[in-house]
Amino acid sequence: MTTTVTVSDRSGRTGDTPPGATALPVAGPAAVRRAALRLIRRDARAFALMLVLNALAAGAGLVGPWLLGRIVDTVRAGGGVRAVDRLALAVVVSALVQLLLARGARYVGHRFGERTVARIRTQYVDRVLALPPAVVERAGSGDLTARGTTDVASVARTLRDAAPEVCVAAAQALFLLGAVVVLGPLLGLCGLGLLCGLLAVRWYLRRAHRAYLAEGAATSELAELLAATAEGARTVEALGLQERRWAAAERAVRRFRETRLRTLFLRSVLLPAVDVSYVVPVAGVLLVGGALHRQGGITLGAVVTAALYLRQLADPLETVLLWVEQIQSSGAAFARVEGLVGAPRLPKAAPGTRPLPADDRIDVTGVHYAYDGAGDDVLRGVDLTIRPGERIALVGPSGAGKSTLGRLLAGIEAPRHGSVTVGRVPIASLDPEVLRRQVVLVTQEHHVFLGTVRDNLRIAAPEADDAALTAALAAVGAGWAEELPAGLDTELGPGGYRPDGSQSQQLALARVVLADPHTVILDEATALLDPRTARHTERALAAVLAGRTVIAIAHRLHTAHDADRVGVLEAGRLTELGTHDALVAAGGAYAALWESWHGRPRG
Ligand code: ATP
Repeated sequence: MTTTVTVSDRSGRTGDTPPGATALPVAGPAAVRRAALRLIRRDARAFALMLVLNALAAGAGLVGPWLLGRIVDTVRAGGGVRAVDRLALAVVVSALVQLLLARGARYVGHRFGERTVARIRTQYVDRVLALPPAVVERAGSGDLTARGTTDVASVARTLRDAAPEVCVAAAQALFLLGAVVVLGPLLGLCGLGLLCGLLAVRWYLRRAHRAYLAEGAATSELAELLAATAEGARTVEALGLQERRWAAAERAVRRFRETRLRTLFLRSVLLPAVDVSYVVPVAGVLLVGGALHRQGGITLGAVVTAALYLRQLADPLETVLLWVEQIQSSGAAFARVEGLVGAPRLPKAAPGTRPLPADDRIDVTGVHYAYDGAGDDVLRGVDLTIRPGERIALVGPSGAGKSTLGRLLAGIEAPRHGSVTVGRVPIASLDPEVLRRQVVLVTQEHHVFLGTVRDNLRIAAPEADDAALTAALAAVGAGWAEELPAGLDTELGPGGYRPDGSQSQQLALARVVLADPHTVILDEATALLDPRTARHTERALAAVLAGRTVIAIAHRLHTAHDADRVGVLEAGRLTELGTHDALVAAGGAYAALWESWHGRPRG
């Protein structure tokens, strides 16, 4: 198993779903409506133009059948060929006008859709970037990715294709029905046959939202599980977790299948019911209209026009139904995209308005912390002051809370009670740019970002020039990076140069050098390294740590032995604090740990 070192990107993701993972929120119907209205208001002109063009196109669509009715009446009244020709020409012209108006409405609709989707995407990215790292970590990258790709794509499809089509169709349907009622209220009643279709649609809509939400959640769950398994493949292999991951994947696939079957069932009821509803009104108009005509209450032309109108209704209804499923599923997708509004955010303040640390002193005062703010505290009343330049080691049994304290010291999590400050400013509230100049957490995880060597380094110091980047690489012994074919311009990752574990660690450590924090927290940075990699990393680490405050979460007690002070954490409490010698002499928990680790007590 390769173990690596990284500058934590504040998300600190591991290859498995973290314990206590919580799903990101989903927006409720009212919030979704408000968000949709906000998006419409931002492009109100285009939206209004789209509606007007739709109404005009729908109005033009009424002219054709009406003219056909006139032709029937003209022929019955013995009108000549010229009169019929004129009417036929008018039919062609009205069809052309309708076509042009409908095209225009669609064009405006598509452009409106594209602009709106661009806004949704930008908003989504902004919101993801505003999420606190701890929330990103707990939500899992699968869910965030599914929302940002599948869900946004579904909303985009609706806005680009479905919404313009449905607007045109809805306007046509309303105008056609209105026209039938104008021709004869009794004929209009035949339109009620459409009700059975509408009832089926209502039945469907009531169930579809939840069903599609469940389908979306099952998709995310599956994506998250597969992503986590792939990312943590080595851990899975090393710990023999294949069976468990396999069982979890099977459960996720089963849930995915169940939710897909549910939406399939809903569609299989809806579509036949709708087909029947098209035929009933036309048959009704022909029967009722025929009877009325026999009694002289209506002309044959009007009956033909009404039948054509109702027959014509099938097209817009078909369009609406074709897209209703897409609109439903994208409604659920939009609820998930908008759900991020309800997620916690990084505190936001105008640049320069937040207080900056007065000095490099770190104070932990009365800190209590529980994951997700619920359950038992994993840190209980911790007090600790770390003086600039000091080397402090945190030791204690597994699960005592050492890593959690490290995360609080790095500003990844904020305490539930109490405070963790640097220079009297809460660390978790610092701007990322300020924070990375204060404290950086180095763990055994690593991440090579897609991009060039330069991109990978400049994450830590966007303004650094090539000389600074080269110096940082040299400081951690990463001369290899400059010997790559394109030097700092070499692309890393899939399709480019793939650094091995120790090279990735060096890149991560070069980032620490560039960020130049006064304090570095080491959490298992070298605990699980193979000896060759460990030697490389220890050397690079020594270069990185020179002249900085170091807080080392110590798994090997020689680190504690070499530290200025040692803190012992037990069950979330800091039970001992002092120099190695003093703690060994005190004969407490540290002395016992030291003895068991070292085999005999040492002074
Ligand atoms: P180790 O030496 O094994 O790494 P530690 O002293 O660093 O242990 P922590 O990792 O801080 O201990 O864990 C403290 C407690 O918090 C443990 O009970 C652990 O199960 C719990 N814990 C850790 N991470 C999470 C998390 N993401 N969600 C919920 N509980 C967590």
